[in-house]
Amino acid sequence: MPERRPYIAGNWKMYKLRGQAREYVQELLPLIDGLDLDVGICAPYTCLDVCMEAAKGSKLRIVAQNMHEEDYGPYTGEISAPMLQEIGVPGVLIGHSERRQFCGETDKALQRKLPSALAAGLEPILAVGELEDERENGETERRLRHQVQEAFEDVQADDVRRVVVAYEPVWAIGTGKVATPDQAQEACGFIRALIRDKYGDLAEHVRIQYGGSVNDENARELLSLPDIDGALVGGASLDPAKFARIVEAAL
Ligand code: PEP
Repeated sequence: MPERRPYIAGNWKMYKLRGQAREYVQELLPLIDGLDLDVGICAPYTCLDVCMEAAKGSKLRIVAQNMHEEDYGPYTGEISAPMLQEIGVPGVLIGHSERRQFCGETDKALQRKLPSALAAGLEPILAVGELEDERENGETERRLRHQVQEAFEDVQADDVRRVVVAYEPVWAIGTGKVATPDQAQEACGFIRALIRDKYGDLAEHVRIQYGGSVNDENARELLSLPDIDGALVGGASLDPAKFARIVEAAL
C-alpha cells in the first residue's frame, strides 16, 4: 500500500485582513518548521499574495477557497484557475458546504471545476459531506456517492492522485459536533471505495481529509484512522499555535 503523506489544511473562510494574515504566517512557520507532512492555508483571495510572500522559502502551501469553472468569460466577481495559477497559487478548495449552501454551488459546476483546476496545474481539495437530516435518514452513502461520482466524472486516471478529498459532514462544520471516529472512518473508507470503483488501485494514492470541528484535542484520534490522511480545519485554524498543535497531531 502506498504511503499517503498527511495533509493538514486550514480554512480561514472570510477572516483576516492582509496584515493579520502576514503576522499569522510569520508566527506559524517556526512552529511547523521541519515537520514531515503537507500543511496548507486556504486564504481569502485578498490575502493570497501576502501569505505567499511571508511563506516564501517554506513548504507552507497557500491555496484559494474557490474558483470558477470557466477559464475566462463574463462572470463578474469570479476568479478562474489560470488566474490562480498565474500568481503561483498551488491549489484550491472547491465545493465547500458553505459555498453549496450560501452561494448556489452545484454538483454540475463542481464537475467542471475539478478538471479545470487540474488542467491549470492546481491541486484541488474537493469537499463533500452529508447534511444532518441525510445522516439521520440513513442517506449518508447515497449523498456521498452522488457528490463523489459527479465530481470525478471527467477526471482522467492520470490526474486522480492529485485530487484531495475532504469529507466534511455539514452538521459538524462550525458546530463543535465532531463526527465519532467510527462515523469518520466509515465515511472516508466509503469515499475511497467509490474512487476505487472508478480508478482501481489509484484510489490508494488519493488523500482524504476529515473536516468538521477538528481541534487540538480531537485531532490525534481522527488522524490515526486508516482512511483519514489529514484534516481540513476551520475555526481552530485561525490561531497559529492551535493550528500547529493539530498539525503535530498528524505525525
Ligand atoms: C471548514 O470550514 O471546513 C470546517 C471544517 O470548519 P470547522 O473546523 O470550524 O468546523
